[in-house]
Amino acid sequence: MTTSTLDILAALVAFDTTSHKSNLDCIGWIEAYLARCGVACERFPDASGQKASLFATIGPASDQGYILSGHTDVVPVDGQAWSSDPFELRVADGRAYGRGALDMKGFVACVLAAVPEMAARPLSAPLHLAFSYDEEIGCVGVVPMLDQLAARGFKAAGAFIGEPTSMGVVVGHKGKTAMRAHVRGFASHSSLAPQGVNAVEFGARFVAHIQSIGAELARSGARDEAFDVPFSTFITGVMQGGVAVNVIPHECRIDFETRVIACDDRFALVERARRFAREVLEPEMQAVRPDTGFDFEVISDMPTLETPPDAAVATLAMRLVGSNRWSNRSWGRRRWWWGRGRSNRRTSPTSSSNCRSLRPARRLWGG
Ligand SMILES: [Zn+2]
Repeated sequence: MTTSTLDILAALVAFDTTSHKSNLDCIGWIEAYLARCGVACERFPDASGQKASLFATIGPASDQGYILSGHTDVVPVDGQAWSSDPFELRVADGRAYGRGALDMKGFVACVLAAVPEMAARPLSAPLHLAFSYDEEIGCVGVVPMLDQLAARGFKAAGAFIGEPTSMGVVVGHKGKTAMRAHVRGFASHSSLAPQGVNAVEFGARFVAHIQSIGAELARSGARDEAFDVPFSTFITGVMQGGVAVNVIPHECRIDFETRVIACDDRFALVERARRFAREVLEPEMQAVRPDTGFDFEVISDMPTLETPPDAAVATLAMRLVGSNRWSNRSWGRRRWWWGRGRSNRRTSPTSSSNCRSLRPARRLWGG
């Protein structure tokens, strides 16, 4: 059975797997395709039962092999000016257009198109396929699959992640912790402002503190010049609160994140911000109303990745792409990767893959 990469990509793009939606139809399609190729696979569902990862092994199960991994979810198209249906693959001028064509259903399609060839070869070591969900909201969807595989004692020689890097080999990424702060204030009419606890104003002081830590890291923090941004960062992404100009807001939500190079401690940075809330802001708030304050929750967390450039998996990747250059990225993917396209194009309305780059690297399985 042979199905072209573009046919597979068209089928994958047609599933609207925006991260807040179910990916089960897409996973079901991949399952059926692998079954037709004679490859068994296993689902790893999430707690809601609405999403699942898929894992398959081709070749002998006895030895460690490499993992080819991609995520099936895509970023939203809401509010973007697409010139055609983002969920219908359009091929024009040597490029394939569609949501996820670049990040990263293109890579998944390359892998799937090569499965019949992989399955037909007498592989000396297994190749594993791992397709996840909820990558675009913080790399969280792959975790249950990784945890369950680890609990079984599964080990791999390395993983290739087909993120868009213009086919550059990326061996490391920053660690990242994303947090949500809930500011509990106390509402009052604005004319009685001193009787209330203004959640937005206390939230703003918290945001300013995050900004000052970020500025300090940029100014005098540790450096790792292998990264595009060579220092750790600390930023606020979302701040929401308030209902009307004449009401002291009783709540405020702040989403903030830190991305760290290996020598910085992301938990220590988050704790520094939390300590400011606990030791400076909350006493002021609670002097007015004792039941006010800050609550925190972790949105996502991933460790720093540092693959030595001379590791076998890295040198193999460099051999496959025909270049001995490597780099690090400030954005992370819970392992390391290389793939088609450029990262700043992956979320744009014209997200596309160059058709010539949609070719499997056959040397990986001896082709
Ligand atoms: Zn991606």
